[in-house]
Amino acid sequence: MAENKKNMNKLKKRKNHSRKLKGILLVELILLLCAGGLYFLFLGTQKAPGGQDDTDYTEDSDDKDSKDGEDQKDKDNSKNNNLSEEELEIIKEQERLQQEIQERKDLIAKADRLALGYDYDGAIELIKSYQGAEGSFSVYTELNQAIEKYENQKSSLVLYGGSYTSVTQFNHIFFHSLIADNSKAFDGEYDQTGYNMYMTTVYEFKKMMEKMYEDGYVLVSIHDIAKKEKQEDGSTKFVAQEIYLPKGKKPFVLSQDDVNYYDYMEGDGFASRIVIGEDGKPTCEMILDDGSVVTGPFDIVPILDEFIEEHPDFSYRGAKGILALTGYEGVLGYRTNDPTSPTYQQDVETAKKVVEALKEDGWEFASHSWGHKNSYEITVDHFRRDTERWMKEVAPIIGPTDVYIFPYGVDIETTMGTYSSEKYMILKENGFDFFCGVYKEPWMHIKNDYVRMTRRPLDGQAMLQFPERLADLFAVEDVIDPERPPRDW
Ligand SMILES: [Zn+2]
Repeated sequence: MAENKKNMNKLKKRKNHSRKLKGILLVELILLLCAGGLYFLFLGTQKAPGGQDDTDYTEDSDDKDSKDGEDQKDKDNSKNNNLSEEELEIIKEQERLQQEIQERKDLIAKADRLALGYDYDGAIELIKSYQGAEGSFSVYTELNQAIEKYENQKSSLVLYGGSYTSVTQFNHIFFHSLIADNSKAFDGEYDQTGYNMYMTTVYEFKKMMEKMYEDGYVLVSIHDIAKKEKQEDGSTKFVAQEIYLPKGKKPFVLSQDDVNYYDYMEGDGFASRIVIGEDGKPTCEMILDDGSVVTGPFDIVPILDEFIEEHPDFSYRGAKGILALTGYEGVLGYRTNDPTSPTYQQDVETAKKVVEALKEDGWEFASHSWGHKNSYEITVDHFRRDTERWMKEVAPIIGPTDVYIFPYGVDIETTMGTYSSEKYMILKENGFDFFCGVYKEPWMHIKNDYVRMTRRPLDGQAMLQFPERLADLFAVEDVIDPERPPRDW
């Protein structure tokens, strides 16, 4: 079943692709025909029939050794040779004009894409960067019209899409690795209950995204919500940001925990690691029963990428999700935790390249601790060692990050006031400013020195045990995988 679905998707994608390609080819063909038509029209008005052209043609035809292509080239050359300087100039000018028209069309398409992602200023800036032969965008009607269109769209935006009055009301939803092959995760083995509770299937994730998209949800970066701003007295503090969206849109944040592809998940229907696909974009690998490795959309990264590719208005200025990584079994499916491994250097280098491709693609990273221990229960010393180990082993691969996602969603403090513990100090010393726990509904603090935001799980436990908690997002029966077992805990 799943395999069929995958193949269907691939086929669909390919079809879309080839449809697009056909469209582009058609446009090019029309342009060529226009240019060619003008050219021959021009010749027709300049040349009397049976002129030197024919002589040239005969000469070429007599040369039996030359190939057809060369014949054509010679013919064209000799034709051009017979044109005056002035005539050649006119042809060149025609070609240049056609090329410029196409350039502007491409530019508008690129700017449209930015505007679809709510970056109207970026779209306007891009159009204004056009010089053309005239040296300024402003002489081209179509460019002025495009700018006017973006200005109009921008002027109709409302703060937070009019859906919220404060960033503290935004949802932050999270997932674990998606189950790509239900038959392997839900096989009745001892680990089935864990998967049933904490994991979401590919089917469910797609349904949830579709439903949220239909309801106006727009993915934003956690860094769009609050930023460190310099105050008049020279100090800095975190300040809630304004996000302007079309009316009815609802900003939300998405994260995925434990994107490490742990050993225990092997053979249970999950992706095995993130790799760079043939198109240079991140995708997943999965190991089949016979040991062969297949590449495809087996987890959130490639699935969400594809969804946003189809629906650019689902992402605010290219925002994607946050990938939260532990360190005890390496990162992203690469066992970079073991320096004695014979492939250690290679694994680190490959993981770094994958990270680069993910960042390029809009994905962000968070620490999920090194050893995935309960941050509240462990001692301060343990917590310090764990944090330092993550900084030493994982940070060099993924680069600096200021987001910390608590293992099990357990916060370092239970205070409803302001953090003040040693554990908080340790995290601050290591550059962390955004702290994420878990709660059943949106909750957020923006303090001078940090941001604390809870996340909602959209997993099996939420769907089977607390469906009422999800009612504002979707009806569980609309998204739940028919292949998911009933509650078994
Ligand atoms: Zn976790």
